[in-house]
Amino acid sequence: NERRAKYKRVLLKLSGEALSGDQDFGIDPKVLDRMALEIGQLVGIGVQVGLVIGGGNLFRGAALHAAGMERVTGDHMGMLATVMNALAMRDSLERSNIRSRVMSAIPMSGVVEHYDRRTAIRYLTGGDVVIFSAGTGNPFFTTDSAACLRGIEIDADVVVKATKVDGVYDKDPVKHPDAVRYERLSYDQVLDQKLGVMDLTAICLVRDHEMPVRVFDTNKPGALLNLVVGSDEGTLIDK
Ligand code: UDP
Repeated sequence: NERRAKYKRVLLKLSGEALSGDQDFGIDPKVLDRMALEIGQLVGIGVQVGLVIGGGNLFRGAALHAAGMERVTGDHMGMLATVMNALAMRDSLERSNIRSRVMSAIPMSGVVEHYDRRTAIRYLTGGDVVIFSAGTGNPFFTTDSAACLRGIEIDADVVVKATKVDGVYDKDPVKHPDAVRYERLSYDQVLDQKLGVMDLTAICLVRDHEMPVRVFDTNKPGALLNLVVGSDEGTLIDK
């Protein structure tokens, strides 16, 4: 292990959208396998990895509600979607010989374990990747909030959020070629400038508990490992 990790325990948040690859819906096994490899690189240098996966590639409560469904029912479907993504991710990890566990905030006996903080920490300490599914278990929350919550609960050194661009910009870099990337931001800057990195609930949670967040590009090979060994990848948000 010639590369030494800067962080001992990380909470990685992957959006559901990332899992569908070039499609608008569903799961692309090729994407999962690539992410499994990247996660395996972290495990390989001794980093403990907790994972929160979104569900936006399958269902989002807000979108279902906009189409006429009751919001809470839509959110329940969204949370169940994250469990499906978690099962697919575990499958990929296990095929790459990376030991992993899925825990769910909603009890689902016979499918996945019910979330228990102390058990999760025990698994992490033993080197297993722990996938925290079903978000926070409550409607009206997002998996970004779930990632921040679990990150704080398991005492992670950092919450790492994978996005489609390599950090936080002053404006949408896809629409504006002159957009400038921030290397570092304070929680208050994110809030004051309404930068929309994560929803307000998530930002307030990490701010209150001084949990650093790093935003990086999922599609950049090696970016995750770089970040964990301490290079200035993406954008760092802290106090
Ligand atoms: N969700 C929820 N409570 C949570 C986390 C998620 O109700 O604590 C629901 C919500 O409907 C959300 C969906 O699950 O739209 C999928 O999660 P999210 O939108 O955060 O996924 P991502 O955008 O990361 O793919």
